[in-house]
Amino acid sequence: MEKRELLYEGKAKKVYATGDPELLIVQYKDDATAFNGKKKGSIAGKGIINNRMSNRLMEKLEQTGIPTHYVRELSERETLVKKVRIVPLEVIVRNVSAGSFAKRYGVEEGIVFSAPTIEFSYKNDALDDPLICLPHIYALGLATREEMETIKEYAYGVNRFLKDFWASCGVTLVDFKLEFGRLPEGSIILADEISPDTSRLWDTATGEKLDKDRFRRDLGGVEEAYAEIMSRLEAADRG
Ligand code: 5GP
Repeated sequence: MEKRELLYEGKAKKVYATGDPELLIVQYKDDATAFNGKKKGSIAGKGIINNRMSNRLMEKLEQTGIPTHYVRELSERETLVKKVRIVPLEVIVRNVSAGSFAKRYGVEEGIVFSAPTIEFSYKNDALDDPLICLPHIYALGLATREEMETIKEYAYGVNRFLKDFWASCGVTLVDFKLEFGRLPEGSIILADEISPDTSRLWDTATGEKLDKDRFRRDLGGVEEAYAEIMSRLEAADRG
């Protein structure tokens, strides 16, 4: 697939046009940012791991009936994806208290919820991605009621699958962020990435963090954690 002009450069990825107007090429970078770009750095090899991990997980999700933008892995950092119009929401599912949830409600991290929770943030860097409720999503025309029903169903479906999958790797899926997009005919599919950049993954036995919180919180061993979580996934795939 021919890589054409650079359409967009984000914090962790570049997006290129292709010869097919319905397809794009995503290229994963090693750049890492946190706190809405206020902390910047690089995690050696992260782009390779996130590309491969996101692709393997999206392949599995497709098999469970959740449609995704994933088409084909092109190289160790590049993937062919379906072009979508992104719904400007971060969809966050949580199984265990951590991060902004623990901070907002003044509770410790690590409280296991009796059922998963869902929340939405309005994707807007200038506003620091504020939390948004469904009535405000409708008031702003960001998505329709029908689209939000689909998004919730898919997000909980992703959680059911990933929670079990990571458990089989000895890893607790604490929380994660998803993004969805609309295909030209209007249907909703899962887009963006699923990786240690966008998920909290804790070693179930030791509680060790195997995700981007090691970078956000200056815990050290960042590259090692990304390599460890990828090797757990690959070991599970080998059976
Ligand atoms: P929190 O709201 O606790 O900061 O994040 C909840 C989950 O969503 C975490 O797994 C975190 O990695 C992910 N997440 C939330 N917002 C973002 C974001 O802007 N970028 C990335 N990469 N992940 C996010």
